[in-house]
Amino acid sequence: MTDAKPLMAGKRGLIMGVANDRSLAWGIAKAVHGLGAELAFTFQGEALEKRVRPLAASLGSDLLVDCDVTDEASLAAVFAALAERWGRLDFVVHAIAFSDKEELKGKYVETSRANFQRTLDISCYSFTDICRRAVPLMSNGGSLLTLTYYGAERVMPHYNVMGVAKAALEASVRYLAVDLGGRNIRVNALSAGPIKTLAASGIGDFRYILKWNQYNSPLKRNVTIEDVGGAGAYLLSDLAAGVTGEVHHVDCGYHVVGMKAVDAPDISVV
Ligand code: NAD
Repeated sequence: MTDAKPLMAGKRGLIMGVANDRSLAWGIAKAVHGLGAELAFTFQGEALEKRVRPLAASLGSDLLVDCDVTDEASLAAVFAALAERWGRLDFVVHAIAFSDKEELKGKYVETSRANFQRTLDISCYSFTDICRRAVPLMSNGGSLLTLTYYGAERVMPHYNVMGVAKAALEASVRYLAVDLGGRNIRVNALSAGPIKTLAASGIGDFRYILKWNQYNSPLKRNVTIEDVGGAGAYLLSDLAAGVTGEVHHVDCGYHVVGMKAVDAPDISVV
């Protein structure tokens, strides 16, 4: 028996981007709650509230706020609610992305101006906006975490404008890390391998992408939301007190591979 406190006991964090129990944000929420953190959640609209509220309750949270990141008023309401209930904040998870799925099928060159702007606004700018709003509550320092994908670094089939948005998001992680480091606020990204979620279902040939990653990653499998949760908990906790501006891959090692594995079966798009 030991009286040691759980690693994240006393830490309070906001989780943004749970749609259901397959969401990457949910994997992180479960992991940090398991380490003793107290959580608040946002949900996007009434339809998702029905899914998120019971999930939050299962982790002992009743602090939920409706939030669409394109709506200034709803963002302001989130941080006002946190200020009122908690008065301070230790971490934020930003697991939010959106693009018109019609433009995640064909070629990047066909991206429309309207969808380019909307994709970058929701998937990239929202993180900067949220960081700025979180700072006044992070009086004891803090940790800000976003989710990205290897399509920011290399061209992936159908990722298109989302790859451009993730590249901008990863660059903003580095700029934010410098801006906020003096307040002991760390800013990092997790680059997750492909996982079947609601958002991923908008990406063309996703089953093929999953198979390809499974056969060709060093660990010969796909990542789970529990894998993402574990790495997220590390970056959000004091274990990563010296880590900022980092894009940390949680992809079963796929990003180190330069060529199809010789023992990987030939697969085709189905
Ligand atoms: P998901 O569908 O479970 O979560 C996406 C979330 O974004 C939803 O909760 C949705 O409500 C939210 N969202 C979209 N537009 C919003 C808006 N305007 N305002 C507020 N919220 C909004 O899917 P996910 O795969 O868990 O996605 C979470 C993050 O992980 C995304 O940034 C995604 O790009 C990233 N990611 C996913 C994968 C993958 O393969 N699933 C891999 C790497 C990175």
